Amino acid sequence: MNLYDVETVKRILAKHGFTFSKALGQNFLINPDVCPKMADSLLANSETGVLEIGPGIGVLTKELSRVAGKVTAIELDSRLLSVLDETLSQCDNLNIIQGDVLKLDLKQVIENEFSNCSSVKVCANLPYYITSPVIMTLLESRLPIDEIVVMVQKEAGERLCAEVGSRQCGAVSVAVNYYADSEILFNVGRDSFMPSPKVDSVVIRLKIRKNQLYSPLDEKHFFTLSKCAFSQRRKTALNSISNTMGISKEKLIAVFDKLNIDRNVRAEKLTMQELIQISDNLLETAVK
Ligand code: SAM
Repeated sequence: MNLYDVETVKRILAKHGFTFSKALGQNFLINPDVCPKMADSLLANSETGVLEIGPGIGVLTKELSRVAGKVTAIELDSRLLSVLDETLSQCDNLNIIQGDVLKLDLKQVIENEFSNCSSVKVCANLPYYITSPVIMTLLESRLPIDEIVVMVQKEAGERLCAEVGSRQCGAVSVAVNYYADSEILFNVGRDSFMPSPKVDSVVIRLKIRKNQLYSPLDEKHFFTLSKCAFSQRRKTALNSISNTMGISKEKLIAVFDKLNIDRNVRAEKLTMQELIQISDNLLETAVK
């Protein structure tokens, strides 16, 4: 069954009475080059477990099943279960879980599904409406996964992979950088999907570091500070932090001056070390 052939896909979907849901980000891949490239980029083997989010009609799932030892896919839309039963009937190393990826206990899912695997990776063409929450959940829950290869909207991918201290950097780039090494693997045009979305996409890789590079005094405080620094992008980092964290400007000026950081700097010019130093110093002065 050729799942890249538009007529075949239409026939299967019609047979199961399926209609696309925009709200669930249902744009299915029909470009035959993309899924094999994503699957091969994992460098997986028979001991690798792959967790997929949103299999749709199973185009990527089929490729993942080819390269990995075990594939588990989480699909929210129960209407797709009978479709997947038909399209993936040949894959014997596969399990589909019906549920919302943001509500499931992923640690438990990984434990249950991949106990015989030596490594676990996440691979998906993510529904765009939950890109950041999914990626942040995967990173912050410190799941036993070693990499994430996902397709996301182009602008989101550029932001996620932006270097800290660069123009495109935002709070989400700081968070990604904290846990992982990131790279953009390749571009995917809007014509690669059915139905075609209004935006282009990119496939990105987040390689999760085994050993933590950064150690702020208080991780939660550091992430709050970073979000606040970027929350008013037209303002200086100092003003943005002061306005959104309710810290007096005098206190912040003292910390910035002590650290030799320009009082007028914008958040996107701050380095990871500087963000950590500001967070740590604010905590230290709060204790005194
Ligand atoms: N992997 C398929 C492909 O590449 O053609 C489909 C990708 S489509 C962009 C996103 C998929 O995620 C859809 O099948 C949609 O139903 C599913 N989805 C949306 N929200 C979800 C959620 N919260 N949890 C799990 N799956 C979800």
